Amino acid sequence: MNAKKFDVSHLIRPEILALSAYHVPASANYIKLDAMENPYHLPEAWVESWLETLKHAEINRYPDPNATQLKQDLRMMMHIPQSAMMILGNGSDELIQMLLLTFHYQGRAILSVEPGFTMYRLLAQVVGMPYLGVPLQPNDFSLDMPALRQAIAQHQPALIFLAYPNNPTGNLFARHEIEEILQISQGIVVIDEAYAPFADDTFMSDLNKYPHLLVMRTVSKLGLAGLRLGLLAGEARWLNQIEKTRLPYNINILTQLSAHFAIQHAEALVAQTEQIKRDRALLLQQLNQLAGVTTWASQANFLLFRVAQATQTFESLKSQGILIKNLHGFHPLTEGCLRVTVGKPEENQAFLQALQHVDTVQV
Ligand code: PMP
Repeated sequence: MNAKKFDVSHLIRPEILALSAYHVPASANYIKLDAMENPYHLPEAWVESWLETLKHAEINRYPDPNATQLKQDLRMMMHIPQSAMMILGNGSDELIQMLLLTFHYQGRAILSVEPGFTMYRLLAQVVGMPYLGVPLQPNDFSLDMPALRQAIAQHQPALIFLAYPNNPTGNLFARHEIEEILQISQGIVVIDEAYAPFADDTFMSDLNKYPHLLVMRTVSKLGLAGLRLGLLAGEARWLNQIEKTRLPYNINILTQLSAHFAIQHAEALVAQTEQIKRDRALLLQQLNQLAGVTTWASQANFLLFRVAQATQTFESLKSQGILIKNLHGFHPLTEGCLRVTVGKPEENQAFLQALQHVDTVQV
């Protein structure tokens, strides 16, 4: 047998060979503050009736391919305009992949800002689409409008992704600057509102104003990350095309039924969100009181902060049982930065306690 014939480099695209698979750190037995999850389960009182609805799930049949009921529920809960079409994804990650598969054409690029959400770049590399990452402004992570105007004029990207609020920085970009990007862009502008439940603004009602605006949401930060459910809303002229890249039955029956149940009980999710917002304010205030810690205000369910020795701090927290995210080495603008998800009050206190036991932070 010719061994060369089965050499991976002969059969696999160089872009894939060059990639590292998305790494999720082991988290068992840690206080898990690394992935922007909601720390709360469904309220105890509702678990029985949730399980009751699942008892009747016809798992021997394929699920509703259009998830019709769930789309109605989401439209109502997220105030999606009647004029907008919706596509559901197995998490918004899958929607990003569908967008890239659809708009991958003749070398046209996608553009986003950096530091930003990793999946835009990673999935662009997977489908083989050029990726342009325009750095944010140092200090406050606002949009660098001269650089963006220049990049948009020069490259005419097919897709622009902006997370609103941004991950990992937590800020909302200035609305009038996003509006200017919408004015000058000849391609699609996707506003990724994964953290909308914790933010004071949204572009959802702007779908009526801009034909090339798409708004993406997820239920992951609302306490339903395990269900894997995201949605994309926008004009049918685009969504009818994107729909062609969606795998049939991508939203499984347990997700359809569980999300329907949770949305019927949305007041509990809203109450959890309100609690997380209050705890975010408290955590920010407490972090600000620590010497050697620089913080940024956040409109999401996490806080970015900077310390002198980020990797040492991260490792020390880990050895004390607290898992957060180390962003040192992620991008030059996040040098020395760590990101902590707002957890339950007792988890936030355990994190603060542990942080005060790190040698590199003087308190
Ligand atoms: N967009 C942003 C900005 C995110 O931070 C994340 C998750 N961390 C996602 C999308 C993906 O969310 P989902 O769980 O729906 O795939």
